[in-house]
Amino acid sequence: IPVERIRNFSIIAHVDHGKSTLADRLLEITETISAQKKNEQVLDKLQVERERGITVKAQTATLFYDYNGEKYMLNLIDTPGHVDFNYEVARSLTACQGVILLVDANQGIQAQTVANFYLAFEKELVIIPVINKIDLKNAKPEQVKLQIQSLFDCKKEDILKISAKLGTGTDELLQRIVEQIPPPESDRKKPFKGLLFDSWYDKYRGAVANVAIIDGQVKKGDKIIAAHSMKQYEIQETGILYPDQTPTNILLAGQVGYIIANMKTTKEAQVGDTLFHLNSPVEPLPGFKPAKAMVFAGIYPTDQSEFNALRQAIERLILNDSSVTVIKDSSPALGQGWRLGFLGLLHMDVFCQRLDQEHNANVIITAPNVPYKVTIHGAKNIKQYGGAELTILNPVHFPDKQMITMCYEPMVNGTIITPDEYIGDIMKLVMGRRGVFKEQIYIDDSRVMLKAILPLNEIVIDFYDTLKGMTSGYASFDYEDSGFEETSLEKIDFQLNGQRCEELTCIAHISNVRTFAKKICNKLKETIPQQQFLIAIQATVNDGGKIIAREDIKPYRKDVTAKLYGGDVTRRQKLLKRQSEGKKRMRKIGNIDVPRDAFIKVLKR
Ligand code: GDP
Ligand code: MG
Repeated sequence: IPVERIRNFSIIAHVDHGKSTLADRLLEITETISAQKKNEQVLDKLQVERERGITVKAQTATLFYDYNGEKYMLNLIDTPGHVDFNYEVARSLTACQGVILLVDANQGIQAQTVANFYLAFEKELVIIPVINKIDLKNAKPEQVKLQIQSLFDCKKEDILKISAKLGTGTDELLQRIVEQIPPPESDRKKPFKGLLFDSWYDKYRGAVANVAIIDGQVKKGDKIIAAHSMKQYEIQETGILYPDQTPTNILLAGQVGYIIANMKTTKEAQVGDTLFHLNSPVEPLPGFKPAKAMVFAGIYPTDQSEFNALRQAIERLILNDSSVTVIKDSSPALGQGWRLGFLGLLHMDVFCQRLDQEHNANVIITAPNVPYKVTIHGAKNIKQYGGAELTILNPVHFPDKQMITMCYEPMVNGTIITPDEYIGDIMKLVMGRRGVFKEQIYIDDSRVMLKAILPLNEIVIDFYDTLKGMTSGYASFDYEDSGFEETSLEKIDFQLNGQRCEELTCIAHISNVRTFAKKICNKLKETIPQQQFLIAIQATVNDGGKIIAREDIKPYRKDVTAKLYGGDVTRRQKLLKRQSEGKKRMRKIGNIDVPRDAFIKVLKR
């Protein structure tokens, strides 16, 4: 198929607006998959993705479409659907010339619709606006049309209306893709140049790389060089995703497909890299900004004897997710472990869930925190810390107050879209989180887009959930990095009967220290089960120097099993067995049993 008959595009949408459903429908009407597979959401492959209904990892599929008696090759590049994964969306778009901007006819434009629009707009891609779910009883396609027109400045007649579920309008959409999205600017006569835009790890075959062929061609047996490392590889297989891996003899300029070379890890198959033939070097493409970790947490094996198993599990997971940063860490209390950096809290949740589900790992996860910067004074201190400016990824390493000159915290540019009746409540929420409003724009007669600068630390854990809760799910939120700003911080430690719980050590803004410490102590009291002795919970600042909050957990007195089950031996044994199984989910701090998930629970406000 000549370059002129290739179209590379993506579907971008707010979560739940129907991206996966539309992708499936397109695969179905082009007979890439049979109708029987319907509703299986072919492109969402990970177990967590199916469970949570979100796409974490972008997937690509090739379809063939007949138009005016000619065969076209359409490469659909799926994108992840959550604020945490904007980075991956931007990445997927580099392989495209156009996008379908999908908007739910009932919900209208949401925060991510706006964020995604700008990602595509900045890359100067052709944008086809599409309203989905017009079959819904309470669909308001005309109102949504107005929103799209007013925010994105497009013509009313260019906006398509479809139902991805029923297939209404999807054939017209395919025609539009062919008519409006330009073919890639590729030259098959030039030397081979490929953009590696995604990669994943296959247990049996090593790294599989998704490649957009910019120029030339590539086939089995070719010797290629990866520009970033200048390492040489031999191509073992080329193919297209149809939608499963389907080998082809060759990949030609303009096409999007996969290659398997002797790359062992996805680190070698680095996304954003340029590939070329040995002995015919090309100008490398600009590459991608590396993923920026926004949230850090410590991960430790519950039992140090499981250290190696956990290391292997983490290594295996990051083979498929190069956006996780991994730094070795250790602590007297928790032993050997790691500090992992994630794109956001959902990303962290998904990662931990996979550790548990796919690798059955027993881990201690510390309170998540954002990265802070501090400058310190005193020649001795600077020498001890190895510099005057420190980046703090682990709150335990926060330096002594006396030596700090200035603290800085990461900020984000937040976008909230909401029905206007909630503006008052949202203002209170945002200001309570130390946010500052910048802008308020009506996108139709009842919906407002609010823009605010917020500290990342205040939105990381539960901002989105709180916002959703107070607006009955009608408000949406998205954010982007906005650099560091000066701030005042304090380190808080928590102790159980004098033993520090390192996994809870955190850094708080000066204005929040007391309320936050009180809240956590209170929650610990609710979360930690009563034991045979008194447990004193204390929050301290200045490395244990000053107590700022305290709660007690009273001991229980009687043997519960004796009282409840008196003579019935088997029931009593069952209960004891259940208790000891429960113990495995516990971690000992001193002689206190603490549920392993207690600290994560405690941190959710
Ligand atoms: P994604 O998060 O953007 O991938 O959204 P999904 O494709 O998973 O769709 C979210 C929900 O909307 C699912 O329950 C779909 O069945 C539903 N949905 C998607 N398209 C349509 C449509 O055209 N009409 C109706 N009624 N429901 C739809
Ligand atoms: Mg989806």
